[in-house]
Amino acid sequence: MKLRGKTAVITGASSGIGEATAFHLAKEGAQVVLVARRKDRLNELAEKIRTETDAQVLPIPADVTKREEVEAVIRQTEKELGAVDILVNNAGVMLLSFLEKGKVEEWERMVDVNIKGVLFGVYAVLPGMMKRGSGHIVNVSSVAGHEVFPSSSVYSATKYAVRALSAGIEKELSRCGIRVTNVSPGAVETELTHHITDTDVIDQFAKRSMTKLESEDIARSIVYAVTQPENVNVNEVIVRPTNHN
Ligand code: NDP
Repeated sequence: MKLRGKTAVITGASSGIGEATAFHLAKEGAQVVLVARRKDRLNELAEKIRTETDAQVLPIPADVTKREEVEAVIRQTEKELGAVDILVNNAGVMLLSFLEKGKVEEWERMVDVNIKGVLFGVYAVLPGMMKRGSGHIVNVSSVAGHEVFPSSSVYSATKYAVRALSAGIEKELSRCGIRVTNVSPGAVETELTHHITDTDVIDQFAKRSMTKLESEDIARSIVYAVTQPENVNVNEVIVRPTNHN
């Protein structure tokens, strides 16, 4: 119970890595704030966490691409649960497509959710964390933020951006007592690929057999990073499945 008394806000908590992370942080004793657009999924998870742990849970539906909604999440958290100790910027979309398909709206959506969503989260928690001289920001990037493959140009660009932001925030804020962890998962079995619309990419995925991680595998690495002693700042975590291709 290393996180007893701490409050953690997790974006993208309605499925996959965010859902597992919220659950694991609650099991470590944190009060958890669940953020995503699908209210029903957040409520279901809140109920499950309340049943299986004694953690306080606050589900708040919000769209991370809307700055005022992200700010409202942090204000409501501070009012109901107290200061935010941990922010997990996990919400993301991976709309892989070949550039020649010109799926401009999907490029924009990835930029909005994956980059602006992270920035809005950081913007909203920073004043409180700086005032208190402590806090931990976890940004979920990807191995696609370390290497680019055909169809991942825009997605990878957003995930390289997340890594750059993590590095920049760490350099600027370490002296203020704020810790930053950038997490780069390899392939994880979640709903992430369900939203891809490029049929060539879908066909390629269908033909490829892939070793995948479980969401819990990433959740445990996030718990590892945020449960280190205050003087330890785990900056970068890369987790790939064994036997990946
Ligand atoms: P899921 O699709 O299962 O989860 C994505 C989450 O993001 C959902 O909870 C979704 O909730 C939320 N989300 C999407 N758009 C918005 C929005 N505009 N506002 C608020 N929440 C939003 O995928 P994963 O769990 O796999 O993805 C989590 C993160 O992990 C992403 O950043 C992804 O890029 C990264 N990642 C995933 C990998 C994988 O193989 N699965 C590998 C590497 C990185 P809702 O729709 O309810 O809003």
